[in-house]
Amino acid sequence: MAARYDVIVVGAGIVGAASAWQILRQWPACRLLIIEKESAPAQHQSSHNSGVVHAGVYYPAGSLKARMCREGLQQTRDFCQRHALPFRQCGKWIVAATPQQVPGLRALEARARQNGLAPTWLSDGELRERQPMLAGVAALSVKESAIVDYAAICRQLLHDVQRAGAELRCALPVDRIDERTSEIVVGSGEQTFHARQLLCCAGLMSDRLARLQGIDCDFRIIPFRGEFYRLAPRCDDWVPHLVYPVPDPTLPFLGVHLTPRVGGGVLAGPNAMLALAREGYRRRDIDAASLREMASFPGFWRLLASHPRAGLRELHNAYSARHYLKGLQQYCPAIELHDLLPAPAGVRAQAVSRRGELLNDFHFLQSARSIHVGNAPSPAATSALLIGEHIAAQVLARR
Ligand SMILES: Cc1cc2nc3c(=O)[nH]c(=O)nc-3n(C[C@H](O)[C@H](O)[C@H](O)COP(=O)(O)OP(=O)(O)OC[C@H]3O[C@@H](n4cnc5c(N)ncnc54)[C@H](O)[C@@H]3O)c2cc1C
Repeated sequence: MAARYDVIVVGAGIVGAASAWQILRQWPACRLLIIEKESAPAQHQSSHNSGVVHAGVYYPAGSLKARMCREGLQQTRDFCQRHALPFRQCGKWIVAATPQQVPGLRALEARARQNGLAPTWLSDGELRERQPMLAGVAALSVKESAIVDYAAICRQLLHDVQRAGAELRCALPVDRIDERTSEIVVGSGEQTFHARQLLCCAGLMSDRLARLQGIDCDFRIIPFRGEFYRLAPRCDDWVPHLVYPVPDPTLPFLGVHLTPRVGGGVLAGPNAMLALAREGYRRRDIDAASLREMASFPGFWRLLASHPRAGLRELHNAYSARHYLKGLQQYCPAIELHDLLPAPAGVRAQAVSRRGELLNDFHFLQSARSIHVGNAPSPAATSALLIGEHIAAQVLARR
């Protein structure tokens, strides 16, 4: 007999895991199945990221990102404390390297205040005095930002949901979704699963799964590889906190930054380079299906046309370590080329509209029996428990 569930969650990244966790917290008797295509959970974005718990500096007041980031930080901290997982509140400094960047930094300060934070403004003298390894004309210090290990959080969430009775099935790529009046049927190869409700948290594949179900999806996921370097051990104690540049306000990426890791060492990155495969972690990864999808989507060409300078800058960054280094030296001049050691890259799932706009906020698609998380870029790892709470409320309302 075919297996029957109340809820099937597709995708065992941090958003799927946190959603399952929140559903079971509020509906303990729920028969819940999580289906993951890889042989283990958290193999994509949830383990290939900067590990930053964002405080909510960048996001427009009233956006889902702003709200879910602030509360997400608190829930992430509580979760880590309860499970003895690392959570280090190291704080963040955003550094204006030139006078031209000061208005952008002032705008971030105002936005941070709107979002309930109390950042500290540092003049160039205060910056030099408090942090001699950094250079700049001003900086904004945000004490709430922290670092964690999101893959470990994801594994703990899945451990909890399995203890609460949920099933996790890995190595099962979902290739069929059939929504009927009384149920929704999910297939992977020979196997078929029936449920009352479906939740898709498929990250880099979110639009493909929505279209697989026949949902009208007017965006495409465009993959942006984020390439990192590990800094040489001599740099480990140079900066105890996160150091960010003032970002380009027209793009959702935060610029190449310095990130201490909870396990030790410091990462530099990530850049934001168009990837030629949805899961293209190496520059040589090219996938014909991903290329065809991009090339046939008008929003892709409009996006390229509207950001030519940023595109060229990222290309330069990706192929020239010296160029990458120049960006870092703007705010940390002591870093040298031999300090940049290889580190694994990540690939961001960024939804792009038909008009070529990068979707800035979290975005969800729905049908009578399904919810698809369409766009969950950074800070979705920070916000995963809040996204999960938001989804659980809808799942419970439909019960
Ligand atoms: C370089 C980089 C740096 C980042 N830094 C930060 C940061 O510092 N702070 C922060 O908050 N956020 C950060 N992010 C963003 C954050 O990592 C993501 O927003 C978050 O991990 C998204 O989680 P997810 O569960 O939606 O996606 P994923 O972790 O990608 O999980 C999706 C899952 O769905 C599965 N799946 C897909 N298709 C199928 C299918 N057909 N059948 C079954 N399973 C399927 C995949 O295998 C995968 O396991 C960063 C991202 C990147 C790439």
